[in-house]
Amino acid sequence: MKGSIKLFKVLGISVNVHITFLFLPVIFLMIGGLKSMVLVLIVFICVTIHELTHSLAARKFGIKVRDITLLPIGGVASMSKMPESPKQEFIISIVGPLSNIVIAALLYLILSSAPWMPKSILRNPTLGNTWRHTVAMVPLINIVLAVFNLLPAFPMDGGRLLRSILATRIDFRRATKIAVYIGHIFAIFFGYIGFVYRHPFLILIAIFIYMAASAEESHVDVRETLKGYRVKDILNSQFMTLDKGTTISKVLELVFHAHQEDFPVMDGAEMVGFATRSDIILAMHKSGPATPLSDIMRVKVPYVAPEDKLTKVQRLMEENQIKALPVLRNSAICGVVTLEDIARIYSIMVRR
Ligand SMILES: [Zn+2]
Repeated sequence: MKGSIKLFKVLGISVNVHITFLFLPVIFLMIGGLKSMVLVLIVFICVTIHELTHSLAARKFGIKVRDITLLPIGGVASMSKMPESPKQEFIISIVGPLSNIVIAALLYLILSSAPWMPKSILRNPTLGNTWRHTVAMVPLINIVLAVFNLLPAFPMDGGRLLRSILATRIDFRRATKIAVYIGHIFAIFFGYIGFVYRHPFLILIAIFIYMAASAEESHVDVRETLKGYRVKDILNSQFMTLDKGTTISKVLELVFHAHQEDFPVMDGAEMVGFATRSDIILAMHKSGPATPLSDIMRVKVPYVAPEDKLTKVQRLMEENQIKALPVLRNSAICGVVTLEDIARIYSIMVRR
């Protein structure tokens, strides 16, 4: 995610923090003193654990998790693909809030048997400002995290749980639509409460939930539309390959005349690499117009087959941060598929 900083790596997943989140401890230190700052850091740890349990559950189902990003409003685990079945989505979504409930229960048990912790503080940790109150806040914070995340609105886990339950009965797109609709109702309700009680943070959350719900709907729309198409449905048989000795200046000339911006790079009849528009532009600035393609091409580039579904193409592009892929039939190059091709078929199919 843009504007985030990598903190550390745990279980092979890097934990990033968004710069807006970095300010929080400082702000709380200034407003509420050391105890408030410690509380923010505790929330930070609990949210990290919450996201890690989502990630580990996803991994069990073969979904890769690149990183976890902590935002002031909660965490986001970026997964390589969506869960394949409602059951998978249900399990991946429920373990997050469950982890907070488990932490809360365990800590409550431990603290209630600690001789230095009076029962009165443990029951009402918000009523005082001692370090004991701070410690007693931790179970409460985890309960709040669990409840907040269980709200049936995207992007919260509750929204995903709701969809996964609906999706066992009706088709995925309709299940998403209903869950998004309920999310919008929640957002409007939060916005109203925030407005009436003059709570700007609540209004902000409302706007965020509203937008995230809409984003989820269009994301699913795209995915479900693309599911029905294969690479061969949009493959352009007219395409150009370039020899590995071709210079950048020659390539730019070709880009200007042909309607192609991403090229398979050949050594004789064999494809040895791939150069995208952004690779070529970057090379032009970095190493100059006389550089041959062999110096700047991507050597390890994923490829697809004409029979592959467009959802796979989209996923590979996302995973590899690339906007075009070579298409190979029996290990011979037979075309190039680009993000624009996918966008075009989507706009034809949806805006009828
Ligand atoms: Zn969650």
